[in-house]
Amino acid sequence: MKDFTYLAPSTIAEAVTLLAEHQGKTKILAGGTDLMLLMQDGVFTPDYVVDVTNIPELTALRFDAASGLTVGAATPLRRIETDRLVLEKYPHLAKAASEIGSVQIRNRATPGGNICTATPSGDILPALVSLQATVRLASVRGERTLLLENFFTGPRRTLIAPDELLVDLQIPAPAPFTSGVYIKLDTRPQMDLAIVGVATTVSLVPGDSTIKNVTICLGAVAPTPIRVPEAEALLTGHVLTEDLLAQAGQAAARAARPISDVRASAEYRREQCDLMTRRALRQAVERARNAA
Ligand SMILES: Cc1cc2nc3c(=O)[nH]c(=O)nc-3n(C[C@H](O)[C@H](O)[C@H](O)COP(=O)(O)OP(=O)(O)OC[C@H]3O[C@@H](n4cnc5c(N)ncnc54)[C@H](O)[C@@H]3O)c2cc1C
Repeated sequence: MKDFTYLAPSTIAEAVTLLAEHQGKTKILAGGTDLMLLMQDGVFTPDYVVDVTNIPELTALRFDAASGLTVGAATPLRRIETDRLVLEKYPHLAKAASEIGSVQIRNRATPGGNICTATPSGDILPALVSLQATVRLASVRGERTLLLENFFTGPRRTLIAPDELLVDLQIPAPAPFTSGVYIKLDTRPQMDLAIVGVATTVSLVPGDSTIKNVTICLGAVAPTPIRVPEAEALLTGHVLTEDLLAQAGQAAARAARPISDVRASAEYRREQCDLMTRRALRQAVERARNAA
């Protein structure tokens, strides 16, 4: 690996100043589980590596009934996976975090790294998109907030500028009778990337089984995580039936733009989008009924 200078700022202001001063010659380091491999392979050859894990805002995890969940970009995934409030209010986010690598990997790996690496199979991406998460980006030019769904522009490509730092994610507080599900299809229980990932967040009309709001996001079947607006529209305002489930599954299969690769064929992935979307919706509605 090429030699580099290691920098460890303890404030956001210090970090963004370093990114601005050394623009184009810097890489941000969080858990390093993606970055170190890419540096070893010579894909990235930065002169400066800016470790952001000592910045308190980047490792904050807090819930507020009005503003929802704030997750610092460099919070270890293991903490998200095991946090009592995340498990209770955002079970699919905890599940998605738990699907990444092994416990050892998750003790280091972070949501900021998963988001900024932006592989189509990134496990926490569908859950976060289905939760309508926003990302807060900071630079010496100021701050901006983007809907995560709009942040990805292609495989390993995002809207983040070279001098920007991903500070945190904001996830809206769930309405009563809201819950979600993340399902990952892979070939072994740990240390495998998703062949298909499906996340859904469902809100029911209180005291009723009518779907008030639903978001569905597919991972690993398009260049970026994708929503399924056709299925969302046909489900909203209705009680889930087998016929609606079938229509939603077919809409997900139509929305997918999968590729064939060493892990699965495009046809298999498309078929799984249908089946997994039905399964995720059925489970999410059941969970939402019990989530007062
Ligand atoms: C053995 C193994 C198994 C894995 N299994 C899975 C899996 O099952 N599912 C999955 O989705 N991934 C998997 N991964 C990939 C990886 O662990 C995740 O993508 C992880 O979330 C990356 O987080 P990190 O903190 O380690 O990122 P880093 O490696 O530190 O950073 C990754 C990229 O993001 C940038 N970055 C990091 N933080 C910020 C920030 N705050 N602001 C701006 N840019 C930032 C870095 O500059 C770098 O380009 C695996 C990796 C390994 C090594």
